[in-house]
Amino acid sequence: MSKQYQNFINGKYVASGSGKTYENRNPADQDDLVGVFPLSGPEDVSAAVAAAKAAYPAWRALPAQARGDIMRKATEILVRNKEEYARLETREMGKVLKETRGDVQEAVDTGFYAAGESRRLWGTVAPSEMPDKMCYVTRQPMGVWGMICPWNFPMAIPSWKLFPALTCGNTAVIKPATLTPASVDAFVGALHEAGVPDGVVNVVYGSGSEVGEALIGHPDICGISFTGSSEVGRRIAEVTGKSLKRCSLELGGKNAQLVMNDADLELALEGVLWGAFGTTGQRCTATSRLIVEEGVHDRMLEMVVDRAAKLKVGNGLDESVEMGPCVSDGQRETVHGYVEIGKKEGAKLVLGGEKLTGDDYDRGFFYRPTVFADVSPAMRIAVEEIFGPVLSVIKVRDFEEGIAVLNGTRYGLSSAVYTKDVNRAMKAIELIEAGITYINAPTIGAECHMPFGGVKDTGNGHREGGWTAYEIFSEQKTVYIDYSGGLQRAQIDNA
Ligand code: NAP
Ligand code: MG
Repeated sequence: MSKQYQNFINGKYVASGSGKTYENRNPADQDDLVGVFPLSGPEDVSAAVAAAKAAYPAWRALPAQARGDIMRKATEILVRNKEEYARLETREMGKVLKETRGDVQEAVDTGFYAAGESRRLWGTVAPSEMPDKMCYVTRQPMGVWGMICPWNFPMAIPSWKLFPALTCGNTAVIKPATLTPASVDAFVGALHEAGVPDGVVNVVYGSGSEVGEALIGHPDICGISFTGSSEVGRRIAEVTGKSLKRCSLELGGKNAQLVMNDADLELALEGVLWGAFGTTGQRCTATSRLIVEEGVHDRMLEMVVDRAAKLKVGNGLDESVEMGPCVSDGQRETVHGYVEIGKKEGAKLVLGGEKLTGDDYDRGFFYRPTVFADVSPAMRIAVEEIFGPVLSVIKVRDFEEGIAVLNGTRYGLSSAVYTKDVNRAMKAIELIEAGITYINAPTIGAECHMPFGGVKDTGNGHREGGWTAYEIFSEQKTVYIDYSGGLQRAQIDNA
């Protein structure tokens, strides 16, 4: 069932200049070859950017609604193929089918939102300070966008970028994560089939160091939309900063769920299990820390360990499986490295902490759901992103300490507070340093029509998702129309 994939440039499938390739295999079963992909280089990026640049004038000249109509048609194709795409995603990324169906659904929701947004793309109108004069702001496309994606949401994240960027009238070159390229091929195939003209969207496969670097440094791109680690984000900000390109960064997280003494513990339990072990903990919004007020700490810990121990781990194509593998052996090594660090730091390993072995597991990169207790807030496992099925449980005296611990990392993406006290909940919303706060719900589960992103090292102030994505992918033009027939001088005639 393996397939030979090629770059997609100017509406055609083309081999990379180097002719080099790599294999994309299922992280649950290394015998399952998903496809063979090009390892491209700077010359392929240049060809893709040139195609996107040439396609830009005609694409931007279309009415936004006509572009939106193509987005709607592409979305209908996603709906039709949802199950097939979900299976492909599970095979290349590992998360369970229920979640990859959700990933495709997120692309569907984002696409229908784009179709609707194409009829708005609102600007602002304000009264002029002069008579017989009008002022308003209109949104304009920008040019060729470069997009660089991570592997954990193989279709949803590319869709967050491409749907709004194209709807705004830009063209694009996208680089999928090396680990999950097939989902982007499927998504871009749907855009093409729906009638996106040749050159408007281009895909170049290959590594961050070759393809990514060539893209961020290319003089003909107008901006980079990046989702990935803070380390790579910093590098991209540096390069695009020097060339004064727009740059939107969605980066790492170290998210916490805070549980107060008065919380509904059953509800908090369901939240933390889903938040910590969903997607094998490989979400930027994963619950990596459970911060519990001391009155319910022991009970909560016992409940979490009891249930986490029973999670069924395995190949995500099996509908009864609750947690899939780590995405790669390297990722699993990183996770295990953090477990070793946690033990050395003196945290108490109360569940897991090891690779899963045996016939069902040896062909994949499985890791046991892992829980650390007695974690103190300064430990590395309490502040650094692990990106795996590892939960650090931290006991706090009271609400104030809980908030201080929650805020005590360099990241600020998602957060959750479980309490029945409305005053506490409101105070938490005010004090938590994060882009997203949930009350009585887990740290994961963002909705596509709302702004998504974080503070501190999680980003640089942009928000993808919802209407704010359209602000990233468009320039504002302020327009003044003077219909007085005379020279009117702002700030002077009225002084
Ligand atoms: P990553 O290592 O930063 O890689 C992300 C992308 O950047 C990949 O396509 C990668 O290529 C590419 N890349 C690497 N070095 C590059 C360079 N020098 N120049 C240009 N591109 C480069 O992150 P990841 O391991 O894929 O994903 C996990 C991280 O993403 C976590 O930190 C997670 O929190 C974050 N994330 C954030 C969000 C959010 O919205 N805030 C969402 C999902 C994930 P290769 O594939 O070839 O390595
Ligand atoms: Mg793979």
